[in-house]
Amino acid sequence: MGRVALVTGGTRGIGKAIVKRLKDAGLTVAAGYAGNEEAARKIAEEYGVTIVKGSVDNFDDCARAVKEVEAKLGPIEVLVNNAGITRDGFFHKMSKEQWQDVIHTNMDSVFNMTRQVIEGMRERGYGRIINISSINGQKGQAGQTNYSAAKAGMIGFTKALAMESANKGITVNCVAPGYTSTEMVSAIAPAVLDKIVAGIPVGRLGTPEEVAEICAFLASDMASFITGATIAVNGGQHML
Ligand code: NDP
Repeated sequence: MGRVALVTGGTRGIGKAIVKRLKDAGLTVAAGYAGNEEAARKIAEEYGVTIVKGSVDNFDDCARAVKEVEAKLGPIEVLVNNAGITRDGFFHKMSKEQWQDVIHTNMDSVFNMTRQVIEGMRERGYGRIINISSINGQKGQAGQTNYSAAKAGMIGFTKALAMESANKGITVNCVAPGYTSTEMVSAIAPAVLDKIVAGIPVGRLGTPEEVAEICAFLASDMASFITGATIAVNGGQHML
C-alpha cells in the first residue's frame, strides 16, 4: 500500500482529478465530500477509493472523518485541503451568511482538517499538506471579497505552517488554480465567462487534470525541498 492521502472535496471537479492522479501515482486515497451521495458513490465505484462524508466547516466532523480514514487506511501522510465554495456578490450587498459560509468552508476548514493530522505527521517525521487556493486570492476579484479573503488567508497560513513544520519532514504548499472547467465555473454566466477567457493568455479554461498534476508532484517524495510556495496554474492570467 502506498502513502495514505485524504483529499477534501475529492468527489467532484478538481478534487476528483486529484484523487485519480494520486491513486494512479500509487497512493492509497480517501475522498471527502459534503452531501452529494451520487458523485461520491460514482468515484468509489470508478476508482475504488474510500469515501468519507463530513463538512469541512465543522471541527468535530473533521476529527471524526480523519479518525474514520485512519482506522481504515492508516495514518494520513498527504492532506489536500481542496473543498471550497463561492457565494458571490458585491460587498455592499453581501449578507453575513454569504461572508461566513465562504470563510467557514474555505478558510476555517484548513484549520479544522490540518489540525487533525499535523501532530501525527510531526511524530512520524513526514507529511505533505497541499492547500488549494485560487488566482482570486492572489489578485483579488470584484464580487468575491469573501472568497478572495479566504483564499489569500490560505496563502499566509501555508507560509507560517511551512516555517513551523520544515524541520519535521513536512512540506506545506498552495496551488492557486486559475479558471478551471468544473461545476463551480459553469455557474458563471456565459457572457461573463467569455470575458474571463479573453483575459487568459493561453486562451481557454484550465482542466482539473492540469491542477491535479502539480498536486501529485507536491505530494511526492521528490518535492521535499519545496515548502511555503504558492504555485499558479492559471494559463498566464496572473503572473507574479
Ligand atoms: P466543485 O464545486 O466542482 O466541487 C466541490 C467539492 O467540494 C465537492 O466534492 C463538494 O462535496 C466539496 N465540498 C463543498 N463544500 C464542502 C463542505 N462544507 N465540506 C466538505 N466538502 C465540501 O469545486 P471545484 O472543483 O471547482 O473547486 C475545488 C477547489 O478549487 C475549491 O477550493 C475552489 O475554491 C478551488 N478553485 C477552483 C477554481 C475553478 O475555476 N473551478 C479556480 C480556483 C480555485 P459535495 O459534492 O458533497 O457537495
